[in-house]
Amino acid sequence: MSTDSKPTIFINPAKCIGCRHCEIACAVEHSQSKDLFSAIFEDPLPLPRIHILPMGAYNVPMNCRHCDGAPCVEVCPTGALYHDEQGAVMLAEDKCIGCKMCAIVCPFGIPEFDALNGVMFKCDMCPDRRAEGREPACVEACKTGALQFGTIDEIVSKVRKEKAEQIVKLKEGEVEEEYNGWDLYRSMQTVVIRINEGDSK
Ligand code: SF4
Ligand code: SF4
Repeated sequence: MSTDSKPTIFINPAKCIGCRHCEIACAVEHSQSKDLFSAIFEDPLPLPRIHILPMGAYNVPMNCRHCDGAPCVEVCPTGALYHDEQGAVMLAEDKCIGCKMCAIVCPFGIPEFDALNGVMFKCDMCPDRRAEGREPACVEACKTGALQFGTIDEIVSKVRKEKAEQIVKLKEGEVEEEYNGWDLYRSMQTVVIRINEGDSK
């Protein structure tokens, strides 16, 4: 089995409390000053490239997936969207003509239009930070672990370990089961069982 060495930002809605620290950190990282107290006085105000969407009992962080076969890269007529050496999908503003094709084809609704400059903008996984071996700003700001940065193998083994520990604690009655990802999993499982039993409601 080959491994994927490309790091990306993984989301876990079950851990997101909707504090929006990630949005603020992203906007500050993409400001001129890169300083919170100066950034709030900048004109235009710096904008975040990650958005938290409240969905019932959950908050879902929506960010770029930096897709391997990225539809946005493929559809861009000017080559403004491209993969950098770490696999991050980047946008060269000087080549963007604001045609919005990337926004139309993105399955997650990620690229946004900067009306002031007539170009698109999107998550760039904080290249300055990556060059210094640091995590993207949103990941560093998230204190609940809802955002994780790493390769798929690193994230999967971390999640596997967390879940194994959780199973043992629940089994030993050390913790009360909380309203979390387990509920989402169970509700999805109920729907699957119902569908398998021929009930499509
Ligand atoms: S902007 Fe959309 S299509 Fe492009 S890499 Fe990000 S998630 Fe994938
Ligand atoms: S910082 Fe983490 S917990 Fe807070 S809104 Fe963002 S993803 Fe959710």
